[in-house]
Amino acid sequence: MIKPARYIVVILFVLAVAGTFGLFQVRATINEPAGLLTPWPHNGTNLRITSVRLYDPDSGDLKSVDAVDIRHGRITAIYGTGDSIPDHYGATLEGRQRVLLPGLTDFHVHLGASDGRPPWAMDGLAMVSVASQREAFLYSGITAVVEGSPNALAALDQALAPSPRVYPSTRMITALDGHPIPMYQEFVPWPMTGLVIDEQVLAIASADTSAGAIEALVNGPGHHVKLVLDGAIPWDSPRLTEADVAAVVKHAHAAGKPVYVHIGSAQDAVMAARAGADVLMHTPYVDLLSDSDLAELKASGVAVVTTAQIWEWFQRGLNKQPALTGLERQLASPGLLAAWADDWHRASADYQSTTFSQDYLARLSGFNANLTENLKRLYQAGIPQIAGTDTGIPGLTPGASLIRELQLLQSYGLAAPDLLRMATSAPGTLLGDSNSGRIQPGSAADLVLVEGDPTSDVSALAELAYVIQAGVVYQRRQ
Ligand SMILES: [Zn+2]
Repeated sequence: MIKPARYIVVILFVLAVAGTFGLFQVRATINEPAGLLTPWPHNGTNLRITSVRLYDPDSGDLKSVDAVDIRHGRITAIYGTGDSIPDHYGATLEGRQRVLLPGLTDFHVHLGASDGRPPWAMDGLAMVSVASQREAFLYSGITAVVEGSPNALAALDQALAPSPRVYPSTRMITALDGHPIPMYQEFVPWPMTGLVIDEQVLAIASADTSAGAIEALVNGPGHHVKLVLDGAIPWDSPRLTEADVAAVVKHAHAAGKPVYVHIGSAQDAVMAARAGADVLMHTPYVDLLSDSDLAELKASGVAVVTTAQIWEWFQRGLNKQPALTGLERQLASPGLLAAWADDWHRASADYQSTTFSQDYLARLSGFNANLTENLKRLYQAGIPQIAGTDTGIPGLTPGASLIRELQLLQSYGLAAPDLLRMATSAPGTLLGDSNSGRIQPGSAADLVLVEGDPTSDVSALAELAYVIQAGVVYQRRQ
């Protein structure tokens, strides 16, 4: 149940937005389909996929399989070579020796937050189509997304269009005036500023003084509890203590919810891990992880989301290198495509911001270098990593950016079978339901069929023939 106070906040938010843009127009905008996918014409409750090479995340191998049976959205049987196959009454999708993988997960997204434009190209509160973002994820083979913040438009979001599974977040618990509050104060226009902050954030002076509010939050809606521990956005901003994080973890775990922590520095990462966090939503970027940091992270069992592009986008825009991928050209918003074509040296040099000042922009290439090195150190140390993008921040595109994330990580030396695990079985295990990121009887039929062999090059994921969501087959619109 939504508590009355929260309900009023949602209504006020809706009214405020309605006053500015017109409720119906907002509703139409966020539910506007992109028409990227067409349902396969033979969809029904019984489906057989024949003749595929099936990807097993545990071994990393491809296994030739004669048939995979799906009923009411779940895998019911897998028939290997030589197995006797019962008669089938229903639709048959010919696999033609393509590779069948579990659908991919993007473990860090902000649905409806932005269309990916850099801050200097933002235009007030730009309304985006959440429906078209959902389609873009599926179009790219992503059948599950984990939210890094609550979707402020969820009350208006009808979820009628094809969609990945969405794992919603609670409000973000942070310090008074901690990240992301200064960012919202700067970028969310009046009269929405305060309403959006209340909708998105629970700011606490300490876990003790706010125990009641934390208890209400962990027992409210949301699949996981999101907490922010980062003093670097803007530089030297307030952050929670390790004791606060540990107290929130205790409340959340007692309520049966995992805690996903946004971190900035190596120290933030170690503090969160010590405090019992389940997942770190970023690879540290403020500084480098030492050997003892890595040992502590490993001992804690915490998993770390890659988010390799959170600062790389800026350098990429300045240099126009590397060029946009094929999927980005197909799926990026018109606003991002237009901004990408600009001269970023000039556009960013004229940009005035308190959060992203010129001094701050000068730090970004260092942040990116640290993050890249930390990604490699985590990988070498055998610490569990999960693929995720932070889509909703500048430069990123729903769906396309996860495929690029995997390509970028491959270019850093991470092996393709490990990367496929980071996007399938590793998140599946953490999310811990029947959508397990594995292809086995009983698991949800969230699948992708691709043309090439992604176990030797993850770029093959971009050449997708079909995406299957809960047993419903979709094709890309030509
Ligand atoms: Zn995020």
